[in-house]
Amino acid sequence: MRIDIITLFPEMCEAVMSESIIGRARKKGAIEVQCHQLRDYAFDKHKRVDDTTYGGGMGMLMKAEPIALCFEDICRRLGSRPHFIYMSPKGKTLDQKRIRELSLLDNICILCGHYEGVDQRLIDEFVDEEISIGNYVLTGGELPALVLADSVSRLVPGVLSDDLCFSDESHFNGLLEYPQYTKPAVWRGKEVPEVLLSGHHANIEKWRAEQSVEETKKKRPDLLTDVDMV
Ligand code: SAM
Repeated sequence: MRIDIITLFPEMCEAVMSESIIGRARKKGAIEVQCHQLRDYAFDKHKRVDDTTYGGGMGMLMKAEPIALCFEDICRRLGSRPHFIYMSPKGKTLDQKRIRELSLLDNICILCGHYEGVDQRLIDEFVDEEISIGNYVLTGGELPALVLADSVSRLVPGVLSDDLCFSDESHFNGLLEYPQYTKPAVWRGKEVPEVLLSGHHANIEKWRAEQSVEETKKKRPDLLTDVDMV
């Protein structure tokens, strides 16, 4: 998969996407990430990417043309049109189902907004989907874009060491993950559940499945309305 990020802060995105699991996945070629400086597509003498809003108001708005030029350049380089996502608090809230669907695409392009956001005409003409990471407002789209890029990347084959790493995890099947423990077996007087020390794989699987439902009932009962396990 290839992910293009259009941003005023490519160094910020590059830094995050170069570390840890995602950084290693990029190095071995499991995913490709390209961060594009939007200002490189502003061709007036001040390289302006924003301007005042029609109708008045305090804030500035990102201009349509530099974004359009940047996206068209990405399309030209790719030889195809990636699915174009604008990170926006007005978008549909991101969830694991949408992340899984997006991870099956060959290319996605993510636009990070700033200031008051982006000229509506650009959104209407170019953007395929607006995605929010929650009902709150951040100063810019970089953190939301990185949340999306990270969560999608880790589902791409070859990024994690084993598919079990994510198929067992919270939200993959609509439930939260079971509780987990590491060494020592007794920590400050608290013991690890006995079944986990038994070596009996079928019993461990059964315990984990039950605990997964219990954990969900306790912490996120709202999730159980979507799953046939109440
Ligand atoms: N004026 C906009 C509104 O009220 O909907 C908010 C603009 S916000 C200050 C600047 C940028 O941050 C947005 O264009 C978007 O790219 C990003 N952003 C802020 N909150 C977000 C969220 N919850 N999810 C996704 N992107 C967000």
